[in-house]
Amino acid sequence: MLSRLSIRTRLTLVYTTLLFAALMAFASGAIALSRHRLTVRLEAALDRKIQGLEDFLRRETRPERAFNIPNEVIEYAFTQPEGHFMHVTDADGNIVLRADRIPEPALTREKQFELYGRTYLVRASGSMQPVEEFTRELKLLLLWSTPFLLLLIGGSAYWVTRQALAPVDRMTQAANSISVHNLEHRLPIPKARDELRRLALAWNETLSRLDESVTRMRRFTADAAHELRTPLTAMRTTAELALRRPRSSQEYKQALAQVVTISERMTRLADDLMTLARADEAQALASFETIDLVRTIRSVLADMEPLFAARQQHVCTNFPAQPAFFKGIPADIRRMIAAIVENATKYTPCGGAIRIALAASSDGYALEVTDSGPGIPEEALDRIFDRFYRVDPSRDRQTGGHGLGLAIAREIAAAHSGSIDARPASHGGACLRVSLSHDNKKKDQRAKTS
Ligand code: ATP
Ligand code: MG
Repeated sequence: MLSRLSIRTRLTLVYTTLLFAALMAFASGAIALSRHRLTVRLEAALDRKIQGLEDFLRRETRPERAFNIPNEVIEYAFTQPEGHFMHVTDADGNIVLRADRIPEPALTREKQFELYGRTYLVRASGSMQPVEEFTRELKLLLLWSTPFLLLLIGGSAYWVTRQALAPVDRMTQAANSISVHNLEHRLPIPKARDELRRLALAWNETLSRLDESVTRMRRFTADAAHELRTPLTAMRTTAELALRRPRSSQEYKQALAQVVTISERMTRLADDLMTLARADEAQALASFETIDLVRTIRSVLADMEPLFAARQQHVCTNFPAQPAFFKGIPADIRRMIAAIVENATKYTPCGGAIRIALAASSDGYALEVTDSGPGIPEEALDRIFDRFYRVDPSRDRQTGGHGLGLAIAREIAAAHSGSIDARPASHGGACLRVSLSHDNKKKDQRAKTS
């Protein structure tokens, strides 16, 4: 029931209930204590009164005038301004002084003392009415002030909680208005440097990350759609042209071969897109294994041998003598090396040279692929790792690239706690450098999630 109420109401109820309990405890304590103190004071006054009588008699009488004691008792009684309320009897039970009637409730104290061989019993009474009256007034005061205090403090608690939680309302309103279409909006940041401010900042950071990935996804989808449209149009045009009039089987064969070539390109594009989508998902990647980088590079080069031969390119390698063990995803590492070496051969003119070097670095390995091609313009050195970016889009028609190879290579390097960058080679070509780190942070995370 309580959990259905708003935080504001709940806090106010809790404060008010606690305050009520505290007030009740304080009131009961205050009443009991005052009653006790007043009673003790009355008892002391009565004891003093009895002691006063005894002292008076000892002072004012002599043994030979002991018969005058009753008169002295009466004289003492008359000195009491508000009435003596004392009852004095001797050992034989004779009443020496009779007490006035005292209104109930009353408190009585008594004492026996001996004087000149005779024993006297003195009883002094005092009215408890002032005590009762004081207690009643205190109770009334507390009874009337409690609802007022509860109202005042409960109301203040409600107001303070409302003020403190006002940023939450504003944040809720802002959060409700944010959707995938306006992810650039942010939650208002409360001025006070408190938990709510930290919450709003954390949410805004999350929104920034979401905004970034949605923007990336949108751009990627738009680019992918754009890239797919060109081969699809080419395929449709080829088929339509072939069907426009009856043709010889040779012409049909040619048209179909063209369609096959185009669909192969599309398959490759689809594969690349899948790889990137998988890299974005991260968890879907295969598990890490220890591989020998030297063997992996040699195997990639062996597969590309026909390409080098066709373009009469000279390939030289520089590898460590020992195996270069590294923890990675074998297929992805292969793919990354192949993307870089493929670029080197694709963009280097026939008869050019390619140099592939692997060396141990302080925290892993450094792989460098240098070519004698035209190199990469300085302003494009960073951008070539963007998805679908090509320095010269027209060159794509001859080379058949989609601008995805290096984007994939960068994702793979990052997934291996590594990095990749491009720089001009000393003799004018391009130099692509991959740094692979043994740092296991990302690999461990991946191992946990997979
Ligand atoms: P894909 O690899 O998807 O088939 P691509 O080779 O065009 O297509 P990337 O490998 O990502 O795409 O390379 C991006 C661009 O960087 C290339 O289009 C090219 O312009 C430039 N580039 C990459 N490597 C080299 C290189 N070794 N020499 C000159 N330019 C290069
Ligand atoms: Mg490429």
